[in-house]
Amino acid sequence: MAEKKELYLGYTTDKAITPFMQSFLEHLDQGRLMKSKCGKCGKEYLPPRQHCQKDMSECTLAEVTERDAKLYSYVIVDFAPESLSSRQPYVVAIGQFPSGLKLTAHITNLMSLPEVGMKLKLGFDKSPDGKMVTYRWLV
Ligand SMILES: [Zn+2]
Repeated sequence: MAEKKELYLGYTTDKAITPFMQSFLEHLDQGRLMKSKCGKCGKEYLPPRQHCQKDMSECTLAEVTERDAKLYSYVIVDFAPESLSSRQPYVVAIGQFPSGLKLTAHITNLMSLPEVGMKLKLGFDKSPDGKMVTYRWLV
């Protein structure tokens, strides 16, 4: 078995990584976004959840191959937590893929105010040390 690579998601400081989350992060590290799907009712979660919110059944990971989305909603954060204060103001956006799945992430390359319905493209990011992986929206 391959050695476990130390990874964490850029949107959280939570270092308590479950095997399920570790698998999600390893896929993200390879530029693959994973959703989860409930084995019982089929409900999909993005970001993935290990257990279904409706029936607590086990969910399995499946790749999201869509990259293009539309801006569904957003907020502009003027007063950020200390860890993100160097980026403020920044935009947290909900993008919706053609499949209907929605994903919340920062938009990192805006040159003007966002508009609901504008095109977004999914991007991936790593910290210089390679330990932090994130996904983000690009315009
Ligand atoms: Zn379910």
